[in-house]
Amino acid sequence: MIGGSWPVSVQTMWKEPLPRCASPADPALEPVIRRLASLTDLGCSMVRFAVPDMAAAEALGMLAEKSPLPLVADIHFDWRLALRCMDFPIAKIRINPGNIGAAWKVREVAAKARDRGIPLRIGINGGSLPRDLAPVHDRVEAALAAAEREIELLEAEGFRDIVVSLKMNDPEEVIRANEAFAARFPYPLHLGVTEAGPLVAGIVRNTAALVPLLKKGIGATIRVSLSDSMEHEVIAGREILACAGQGGAGVRIVSCPRCGRASFDTHAFIERWKNSLYALRVPITVAVMGCVVNGPGEAREADLGITGAGNAVLIFRQGTIIRRVHADNADQAFEEALRELVQGNDAARRAD
Ligand code: SF4
Repeated sequence: MIGGSWPVSVQTMWKEPLPRCASPADPALEPVIRRLASLTDLGCSMVRFAVPDMAAAEALGMLAEKSPLPLVADIHFDWRLALRCMDFPIAKIRINPGNIGAAWKVREVAAKARDRGIPLRIGINGGSLPRDLAPVHDRVEAALAAAEREIELLEAEGFRDIVVSLKMNDPEEVIRANEAFAARFPYPLHLGVTEAGPLVAGIVRNTAALVPLLKKGIGATIRVSLSDSMEHEVIAGREILACAGQGGAGVRIVSCPRCGRASFDTHAFIERWKNSLYALRVPITVAVMGCVVNGPGEAREADLGITGAGNAVLIFRQGTIIRRVHADNADQAFEEALRELVQGNDAARRAD
């Protein structure tokens, strides 16, 4: 569910072509389904797939029959691809009005979407505005005009199951466009910075644009687009929601940057553990610290903490040291302590 009082959801976009397949049971789809399941565990609520041709539309349709989470078809240029996708249990269609062409094509898509109960996202992108609007001096105004034109077209067909996105590369433009849209239209917004860049730059630019909007209650779903993995997009999305005060029940990781005093390699430990920690649906803080300078302090504050101490590690649970083991046994001791903590949390929740 998107919009209204539903929580803001995190989505990502599949980054490779789908394998060609003959049926939903085709083994070629199994690795895709496994990765979708692991994205779901990380907190992803939907995944969008590019549909460049008819074979891709059919492969996506077959995948949608077995997918553990809702799938969105991303359509450019050819409206017939959208029509074909809607023969399958696709959750949403994204169309780019800048390149779909004649209004009757959009109407045809809307008519089928209405019959099938499938929402449409009008995806406006600063890099592919409709040709007649491109000369408008202000890109934000041009994007708003493009969105308004498509909304009028869809509303004239009696179609209101609409999501809109106004993506640009400049965070300041993204903020202006979405604030102006939210003041004028009732439709839910999908937020993001387009072509945001590699991991670090992309996260910074998305954070700069999305946090202020989310804090004002603008945005129903987000995607942190990165020249990096889908998993990082989802984790970044979760962290952005948490910064905006909209984090769900999940693990919060605190970790030190490591320095010359470290006796415990926090980077390697986080790399080994981060996906399993983010997959836990429990509202706990986990601290991973390199040495006894700041380690015990942070680890004590957390629900579960691990810190280097010479050639040993100390494990803290809710303020108390519960284990001291050689650093070689850190992972095993941490795993046991984490299991006990999570089981205790589950038992407490059941008792409630
Ligand atoms: S906790 Fe220790 S290792 Fe980590 S940054 Fe601070 S001083 Fe360095």
